[in-house]
Amino acid sequence: MTPRAGPNWVDFAAVKRAVSLEAVLRHYQLPGLRPHRDQWQGCCPIHGGNRDDSFRAHLTKNVFQCFACHARGNVLDFVAAMEKCSIREAALQLQQWFGVTVPVGAPGARLSRAAADMQNWELVRKEEANNVPLRFALTGVQWNHPYLAQRGIDTPTAAEFGVGLYPGPGLMRGRIVIPIRNARGQLVAYAGRALDGRAPKFKLPAGFHKTLELFNLQRAAITGAKTVIVVEGYFDCTRVHQAGFPCVVALMGSSLSAAQESSLLRHFDRIVLMLDGDAAGRAARQAITARLSGRCLVEVVRVPDGSQPDQLSCSAIRQLLAVARTREPW
Ligand SMILES: [Zn+2]
Repeated sequence: MTPRAGPNWVDFAAVKRAVSLEAVLRHYQLPGLRPHRDQWQGCCPIHGGNRDDSFRAHLTKNVFQCFACHARGNVLDFVAAMEKCSIREAALQLQQWFGVTVPVGAPGARLSRAAADMQNWELVRKEEANNVPLRFALTGVQWNHPYLAQRGIDTPTAAEFGVGLYPGPGLMRGRIVIPIRNARGQLVAYAGRALDGRAPKFKLPAGFHKTLELFNLQRAAITGAKTVIVVEGYFDCTRVHQAGFPCVVALMGSSLSAAQESSLLRHFDRIVLMLDGDAAGRAARQAITARLSGRCLVEVVRVPDGSQPDQLSCSAIRQLLAVARTREPW
């Protein structure tokens, strides 16, 4: 008898083929693990011990083992241990998280290259539908680090945004971390800014789609204001907030994605664009104004050439925004 493909039917082998252990570890964003050759090792996320050499994951073999709690196995065993659920529930969970589609036809049939590509494409597309909330928050973040003062971010603002140096282990070690929340206020990622000239300047976890979020939207939305200031970067946003304008969001870049556009239109009636005073900022200003005009009120604040909002003094920001306010009060 051939099992039928349906909503309750799970092809364990297909899930294991489609989702690597590395993808699952990245999904959980475990700060206690560090890469070492083709392994990740560190504190065991399953039993939560503090020995930092008990857990090993072999990325090429797609297996893991903990020498302390003796947990071991493949991706399905890992998710079952993390979620405290059955292997079957773990497989269903992975199908949902990574959008693994059950191939049509006989189970176990080899997929053609085109079908496999299509499956990968589906995997990416479905994953893009939302950012999964993190299952942890970084602790020990230092809000009073001199770098923040240097960037003009005062300690109360740093504490409110949770921005600071992360001294602990993992992906964000030694970086200035910036928590990113979705519209519902759930923590979905940390951006990590290098303190020195190290590349990349900003680290974002794999699998996080910044085009789906507007930085600071959760705070801006609860102000109840109908006018929002839109800036490019995290620090532009903290700076404008610090200048006394809490209804501000950042694009985390200089382009407006479709998801960001619909978020803006859902929450606000009027948009004050305050992008960088460089070629990219000016091009973005034109493109975004053209896209939004007729759908909401768009006001442009011209940041002086060669500078960006986070380099302006709070009084300069107030002056620029006061001009926009006189044209159309908010
Ligand atoms: Zn363990």
